[in-house]
Amino acid sequence: MDLSGHVFGPVPSRRLGQSLGVDPIPFKTCNWNCVYCQLGRTFPFSLARAEYAPAEEIVAETHRALETCTPDFITFIGSGEPTLHSRFGWMIRQVRRAQGPPVAVVTNGSLLRMPEVREELLAADVVLPSLDAGSERLYRQINRPHRDLDFEGFLGGMEAFRSEYSGQIWMEVMLIGGLNDHEEALQDLASALARVRPDEVHLNVPVRPPDESWVQPPTPERLERAEKVLGATVSSFFPKVGEEGTFQALTTQEAVVSIVQRHPMTLSQIQAVLHGRPQEEVRRAVEDLRVSGRVATVERFGQSFLVVAEARFS
Ligand code: SF4
Repeated sequence: MDLSGHVFGPVPSRRLGQSLGVDPIPFKTCNWNCVYCQLGRTFPFSLARAEYAPAEEIVAETHRALETCTPDFITFIGSGEPTLHSRFGWMIRQVRRAQGPPVAVVTNGSLLRMPEVREELLAADVVLPSLDAGSERLYRQINRPHRDLDFEGFLGGMEAFRSEYSGQIWMEVMLIGGLNDHEEALQDLASALARVRPDEVHLNVPVRPPDESWVQPPTPERLERAEKVLGATVSSFFPKVGEEGTFQALTTQEAVVSIVQRHPMTLSQIQAVLHGRPQEEVRRAVEDLRVSGRVATVERFGQSFLVVAEARFS
């Protein structure tokens, strides 16, 4: 299976089972610059939709991967915001087959304010947008969107999508200690969720290296309170560290790069993902990648996380 370009996995995901990832966007091209982004600072910061990589190439790569595996989902998930790809809808329609795996899209949801993007996403089976704030102030503080984006347009776009889309919407909420876990922020979030009416709400906490070193997970008490305030629709899905990865087709160095390009991890987490290989072989591969400058480290939560060299952290 060719895993060198835009397609990776399948990787086990708690929400999506065995998920074949499709990444149509260059590293860290986004219209938000979230304080918790595990890929570091957004660069380039762009609102422009463009054909960042040839859509035909991405679709062909996906079809090749599907000849050798049967994932539970084909998941569009970017090293940036996937809906910035201007032929996004065409690609969904090309990879979705009547008897094939369903298609999921992990998106920040900011472009749902555009009717054409909503229309493109109608072809997906599951859409997983983000909602981390229930007010303009916290939206700006947490997601740090492009200056031409505003909270009401963002929420209005999601509301409109809900009324047009009959598939599943699974909302992702990242809870950050001291930022959106206090009572007023939780009440605002609950009101925003009531407007969008997602089918499921997934509550996440930062466990991978956030762009900003001050970002912390909430306390267990605040987390419990968040679950109560956000109501019966909430079910918590915590990213299980080390759950990703069946990378048998790659060399150990390639597998390490493929992992940390999308999910920065500590050495021991990478060793857990690549548990079929000797730990010493993985350690040596990481060391060689560091020496050659292909990966770097970032310190967060008292741990060293491996990231690709082009990642920029605050
Ligand atoms: S977390 Fe997602 S939406 Fe936020 S900056 Fe990173 S890639 Fe963009």
